[in-house]
Amino acid sequence: MQDIIFMELKSKYNTMLKFIFKSILAILVVLIAVLLFNTFKGNNSIPTHKAEVVSYTNDTAAEHLSQAIQIKTISFGDTLPIDTSEFLRFRAFMENTYPTIHRTLTRQNFNEFSYVYTWKGKDTTLQPYVLMGHMDVVPVEAAAESKWQVPSFGGVIKNDTIWGRGAVDDKVAVISIMETVEQLLKENYTPERTIYLCFGHDEEVSGKRGAKVFSNWFKENNIKPELVLDEGGQIDRQHFQRLNRPVAVIGNSEKGYVNLDLTVEIPGGHSSMPLKETAIDVLNKAIVNIRAQQMPAMLTPSISELLNRTKPGESFVKRMALSNMWLFKGLVYGALEQSKETNAMIHTTLVPTIVHAGIKDNVIPSIAKATFNSRILPGQTSDDVYNFVVKAINDERVTVKKQTISIMEPSASTSIEHPSFKKIENIIYKSVPDVIVSPYLMIGATDSRYFRKVSDGVLNFSAVQDVKGFHGIDERIGKSDLNRMIQFYRALITEK
Ligand SMILES: [Zn+2]
Repeated sequence: MQDIIFMELKSKYNTMLKFIFKSILAILVVLIAVLLFNTFKGNNSIPTHKAEVVSYTNDTAAEHLSQAIQIKTISFGDTLPIDTSEFLRFRAFMENTYPTIHRTLTRQNFNEFSYVYTWKGKDTTLQPYVLMGHMDVVPVEAAAESKWQVPSFGGVIKNDTIWGRGAVDDKVAVISIMETVEQLLKENYTPERTIYLCFGHDEEVSGKRGAKVFSNWFKENNIKPELVLDEGGQIDRQHFQRLNRPVAVIGNSEKGYVNLDLTVEIPGGHSSMPLKETAIDVLNKAIVNIRAQQMPAMLTPSISELLNRTKPGESFVKRMALSNMWLFKGLVYGALEQSKETNAMIHTTLVPTIVHAGIKDNVIPSIAKATFNSRILPGQTSDDVYNFVVKAINDERVTVKKQTISIMEPSASTSIEHPSFKKIENIIYKSVPDVIVSPYLMIGATDSRYFRKVSDGVLNFSAVQDVKGFHGIDERIGKSDLNRMIQFYRALITEK
C-alpha cells in the first residue's frame, strides 16, 4: 500500500517537475524571441549614399583666417579686462577684409565689440536665420607656449593647415560666414529671408556682454528666428570608427550649469595639538562622499536618438542590448560610464574645481572651502543637484550654497522635426558621403543658449571633420575643413 502511495507521489512530482521545466523553457524561448525580434526589427544596416560634389573653393579664406588668428582677441577671465586695442584691430581687419559686407549690410555694435550684421532678405514674412560665431579666444598659458610646434598666435599656414589659437574655436566660424556672405554679395545675391550675422566678443567667459545683450535686442524687437546656428557638434570620424561611418552630430540641447560652495568652520589652533577632526578633514570627507557616487543616469531624448540612429551599425551584441533597454539598461549605462565623454552624456556631473584652506604650515585653519562645478542633464535641475550634494555629505557641519550668479538650468531642446533641424540635417546628408546625422546633447555651454528665449530652432553645428587642439596645444584646421565650412554656409543661405 505504502509503495503505491509512494509511486503515485513520485509520478505527481515528476509531472510537476516536467511542467516547471517546460514552463521555464517556454519563457526562455519567448524571451529569446522577444530579444531577437527587437534586435532585428527596423533597420539592420545603414544604407550608404553618395554626396553631391561641390566644386566651389575659396582661396583667400586661409589667408584671412591666418590674419584673424594673429589678432589677440583674448578673454582672460570674467572679471579681468580685455585688451581693447586688439578688439579694435579685429574690427578694422573685418572692415578692410570684407568691404562689400560693410558697404551693404548694417552693423550694430553691442558693448562696443560684439556685432550684429543685418542682411535684409527679399521676403520679410519669412522668419530670419541667425548665424553665430565668437571672435574671442582663450589664452595660451605661458607653460604651454613652448609645447606648440608653431607660435600660438602666429597664424602659420603649413601642410595645407592653418595653425593658431582660434583656428577652430571659433574664428573659423566668423571667417567662414564672412567669406560666404562677401562672395555672395559680389555675385549680387540677395537672400530669400533676412539673415543676421551675430558675433560675440566674450563667449569664452560668459557671453554676458555680447550674446546675452544682442539676444535681448532680438527679444525687444520681437524678432523670432527660425534657425539660430552656433558652434557645437561636428562631423565625427574618430568616436565612431567601429561603424566605419562619419557621424555628424547636431547639438539640439545643452546641459545646465551650477556652482556649489561648501564651507566648513571649526575653530583651528596650533598644529602641534590637532583636534580629532579639523575643518580640512570634514571638508575632505564631504568631497570624497560626493565623488563616491553619481546622480542617477538618464537617457535624454538627444542621446537616446543618437544611440538609435547609430545602432544598426553596431555589433550584434550591442544592437541586442540597445534594442532591449527594458532588460539591459544597467549594462548599457555601465558601458557608457566607462569613458568620461559618454559618462557626461548620461549623468549630471559634479567635480571640485576650487579648494581653499590654510595660510601657514603650523596653523590649523578654522575655515575650509570648496567649490563644485556641476553640469546638469536636461530633466534634472540645480535644486536636484543641491539636494543630492546635501544628502551625499550627510554632515550638518558642512554648509552648502548655490552660487546664484552663474546658475543656468538645462536648456529646452530643439525638436528633430523642427524645420531648422531638418534643413541642417539635409545639407549635411547631401554633402557628406555615407554620413549618419544625429541630434546630440551639448555638454558645454555656448553663446546660442541666450537665443532660446526668442527661437525654438537653436542648433549647434560646425561643418568640420578633422580639427585639433581645441582650447589646447597646436590648435589647427585644414584648408579642406575651412572650405567645407564655407560650402556649408553657402548651402544654408542659398538653398530653399
Ligand atoms: Zn567656442
